[in-house]
Amino acid sequence: MSLTTRDAQVIWHPYTQMKNPLPHIPIVRGEGVYLFDEEGKKYIDAVSSWWVNIHGHAHPHIAARVAEQLNTLEHVIFAGFTHEPAVQLAERLLLLLPGDQSKVFYSDNGSTAVEVALKMCLQYWVNTGKITRKKVIAFKDAYHGDTFGAMSVSGRSIFTDPFNQLLFDVEFIDLPNAQNIEQLKSKINYLSNEVACFIFEPMVLGASGMLMYEAQYLDELLATCQKHGILTIADEVMTGFGRTGKYFSCEALSLKPDIFCLSKGLTGGTMPLGVTTCNIKIFEAFLSDDKLKTLYHGHSFTANPVACAASLASLDILLKPETLENIKRVESKHREFAEKIKGHPKLKAIRQAGTILVMEWETGNDTSYLCGLRDKLYLYFLEQGIVLRPLGNVLYILPPYVISNEDLEYIYRTILQALKDI
Ligand SMILES: *Cc1c(COP(=O)(O)O)cnc(C)c1O
Repeated sequence: MSLTTRDAQVIWHPYTQMKNPLPHIPIVRGEGVYLFDEEGKKYIDAVSSWWVNIHGHAHPHIAARVAEQLNTLEHVIFAGFTHEPAVQLAERLLLLLPGDQSKVFYSDNGSTAVEVALKMCLQYWVNTGKITRKKVIAFKDAYHGDTFGAMSVSGRSIFTDPFNQLLFDVEFIDLPNAQNIEQLKSKINYLSNEVACFIFEPMVLGASGMLMYEAQYLDELLATCQKHGILTIADEVMTGFGRTGKYFSCEALSLKPDIFCLSKGLTGGTMPLGVTTCNIKIFEAFLSDDKLKTLYHGHSFTANPVACAASLASLDILLKPETLENIKRVESKHREFAEKIKGHPKLKAIRQAGTILVMEWETGNDTSYLCGLRDKLYLYFLEQGIVLRPLGNVLYILPPYVISNEDLEYIYRTILQALKDI
């Protein structure tokens, strides 16, 4: 029996309607930007395997470091114990993050990194005796993950529909722009005494369709929040580790958030790991002789040493000058191609942030995530040996930074052909 057939008998896949799903492609091996299936067909992984892979598949430096760690210490409980990879990773992340981050709290994925951030903020106000401050502000189109807290602060959508009544109340605001910024600031001013925190994806909103907004307006929102002591959470789970052209998207801001959430590219896409960092102000609000002020949160695999080792190896690669050169190269290739297809009648919008290039297809009336165009595009590119996974009518390229110019040009050529064929 083929892997695909065996899979169909026992597996329930994520984000997949399991009634007559498209066949799941059996991948047996990865190397650089390529994935190879059972029959030896090669695919360019142009979405970095759900945005996690930044240095290419089966990277030898990460593989060696992971193997070494597996033979040294695979895991240890992280309450009451510590280990070198966790401490070293925290030291290195705090040096790299913008602003005044001073403590690292580990978990094991992006959603849990968000849950921890929300609990830090909500309990901050409980611990400091201002229990009326329990509202969260978030963007209407945000995506922060699939667990209940993370879903609550995400925009209401087809992803959250069956659960909407069980999600906690959030003050949703529009993405800021020149027209609405004053109105958004007034809203924050008005709510200020009730608000615990503001959570945002800095400059690029991933899952809701790679929407983008300008740093200067986020700075204005942050200034308004800081004026009222509202805590701010930058969810850099997708944007972190070079994706938008800088190590972190928040480097483009003049003000800095109180908390960062990191995951996805953290381990180079090798292993699951989540990180929530905070500044000393938040940390100190939990220091007390009163045991009730403790942050009672943790996961079995908190700070898994192998995942931390993968992250350290990924950071080694990220900080090499040639990685930054690759990021700049992908950025400028994208810019050239965007220039070339600007104004194409089948494209409603083209936008770019660093290594992310986005093409919103004209769909007439049906603009939903579920529109028929999505599967057509997905299958078209797979046929051509390219993994692109549109969000509805939003086609985007988000490749590992090591992708060659030849592979990028092949993707661009195939997109031009798709614009003719579809
Ligand atoms: C993917 C994502 C998450 C959730 O991360 P998971 O590891 O999938 O739970 C949270 N925030 C943002 C911005 C993301 O893109």
